[in-house]
Amino acid sequence: MNKTNKTYIAGHGGMVGSALLRTLRNKGYESIITRELGDLDLRRQAETEEFFLSEKPDIVFLAAAKVGGIAANNTYPAEFIYDNLAIQTNVIHAAYRAGVKRLLFLGSSCIYPKLCPQPIKEEYLLTGSLEPTNEAYALAKIAGLEMCKHYNAQYGVDFVSVMPTNLYGENDNFNLETSHVLPALLRKFHEAKQANLPFVEVWGSGTPRREFLHVNDMAEACVHVMENPESSGVYNVGCGEDVTIRELTELIGQVVGYQGDLKFDSSKPDGTPRKLLDISRITELGWKPALTLEQGIKQTYAWYCESIKN
Ligand code: GDP
Repeated sequence: MNKTNKTYIAGHGGMVGSALLRTLRNKGYESIITRELGDLDLRRQAETEEFFLSEKPDIVFLAAAKVGGIAANNTYPAEFIYDNLAIQTNVIHAAYRAGVKRLLFLGSSCIYPKLCPQPIKEEYLLTGSLEPTNEAYALAKIAGLEMCKHYNAQYGVDFVSVMPTNLYGENDNFNLETSHVLPALLRKFHEAKQANLPFVEVWGSGTPRREFLHVNDMAEACVHVMENPESSGVYNVGCGEDVTIRELTELIGQVVGYQGDLKFDSSKPDGTPRKLLDISRITELGWKPALTLEQGIKQTYAWYCESIKN
């Protein structure tokens, strides 16, 4: 991949896609293509093929997906499996037909087996049963990874995959019903502080462990992989360390400056007990994260305060 390549970001309006757009622009990429949701529905095969065959991009970042936190995955599994299967199947096949030089597919750390050894290596994929709260999403993403692998094998294309850990940052979803834990807690603490509420409600037991990566670091990792002509296969992308949900909660409380109590709601699911990625493969390629969790939360909180003002 080089700066003059025609580069299509699928899903540029989302958290990862928008970070990719900022990162590629900052690096001087000259020919970036995007499409608004209303103009191109990637779940429609004919529309997707027509777009690819007329635009003929060289490079594709496939960051379009239906994503959400534990409650959204549990409540809307049909939408998670259908939307993701449709989007990725159409994009990967159309990219092959249109002669795309390189494609980056985004998987997720939640597609590894629920109880696999930690930290999780890329080769643990498909070695055990999945976490039930996000099985539909995981199955779709696994199909995407496998599709890239088999298209590489049969058609000789160059489709690479990355497996991000739990991401957060600007343009995240702060809707308390559908978001992931980090933006949900930022918002809950902020609102509790504003309204002087005596406690903040945290879902589950607080004991599950999660690894978090700021989306700017994720975008850097994606571009790093794509700029390296030697990269291939699947790369885990994380920060290499995890925290308990309780530790995350306390850190967010400090950043926001909330003094009240925590109330853990055990009627809500914990999800998988732990998903810490082994990031040796991508670190050997020369990438490492720039932001600590505390720096990333401070940056995201500042962005959130600014965005609700507007
Ligand atoms: P997961 O990583 O796929 O399980 O997705 P989430 O980011 O939604 O949840 C991670 C963990 O945080 C789970 O154990 C949740 O129960 C817990 N959690 C605690 N409070 C919240 C909250 O307010 N929202 C969400 N989404 N999760 C929460």
